[in-house]
Amino acid sequence: MLEQLRENLDGVLKKLRGQGTITESNIQDAMREVRRTLLEADVNFTVARDFIRTVTEKALGVRVLKSITPGQQIIKIIHEELTRILGEEHIPLNLGGLPPAVLMLVGLQGSGKTTLAAKLGLHLKSLGKRPLLVAADVYRPAAIDQLVKLGIETGIPVHAEKGVDPLTICRNAMDIARQDNTNVVIVDTAGRLHIDEKMMGELQSLQNFLHPREILFVADGMIGQDAVNSAHEFNQQLSVTGLVLTKMDGDTRGGAALSIKSVTGKPVKFISSGEKPGDLEPFYPDRFADRILG
Ligand code: GDP
Repeated sequence: MLEQLRENLDGVLKKLRGQGTITESNIQDAMREVRRTLLEADVNFTVARDFIRTVTEKALGVRVLKSITPGQQIIKIIHEELTRILGEEHIPLNLGGLPPAVLMLVGLQGSGKTTLAAKLGLHLKSLGKRPLLVAADVYRPAAIDQLVKLGIETGIPVHAEKGVDPLTICRNAMDIARQDNTNVVIVDTAGRLHIDEKMMGELQSLQNFLHPREILFVADGMIGQDAVNSAHEFNQQLSVTGLVLTKMDGDTRGGAALSIKSVTGKPVKFISSGEKPGDLEPFYPDRFADRILG
């Protein structure tokens, strides 16, 4: 994950690290290279520009500390800024209020929603919760079978019905959840290859019925800025509360991770790095910045 970005940044920072004195011109040179590296990693242009501007301003204002070299101080500033654009701190799932808490998963087809439903279910089960998975992706019949299979694999109950509309499925699922003392309901919804009005209309009616505690936009981390653009559109039409980045095990260039919070204003809550139900981790901006800086 992120190898290319880390290697490229490392190359630039190595030069800085060794510098005994830092001049305005070598900061500008280094920042030009960092900017190029970010754009190559498919980071949103505005996000990269603002990042460079802030780091440059702070680096120029640095008062040299005796204990560390100026180069190291600039690297520290870069780390702080990376953490800031990644969202500053970990924001946990909101499961408060009267149970059951509903988590609705939305996103384009193939982004990893169905597998995420099982991953979140397993994560919550390990925290002592009683989750129910709901198969409301009725346009891809294989998604229903896939969720049922994942439910068996993880030992988590699944509510699935074929030949019924998503709203009815959700209504029935909520009745079952209340009867069974389920405290978290995770709803897998339909995605398409492209955003369209019908899909959004359907998601909006599910949102109005379910009043989800969380609407999580599931973003395929491999598709970089396209994922960020979709997140932006979903966020405008639904009350998205958080983001999940999937496929972070692939050869992602990292751009989505670095841009998505700044563009949408919504926190990344989890990242997923594999297809298995256990491949999910809560997202911590500072630890992610550590990984990028190696
Ligand atoms: P959906 O259409 O949004 O429900 O997407 P799926 O959950 O069916 O996932 C699409 C494909 O991506 C499946 O083959 C999943 O196994 C795979 N997938 C999902 N998440 C990850 C991940 O984090 N890493 C990898 N490598 N594959 C994933």
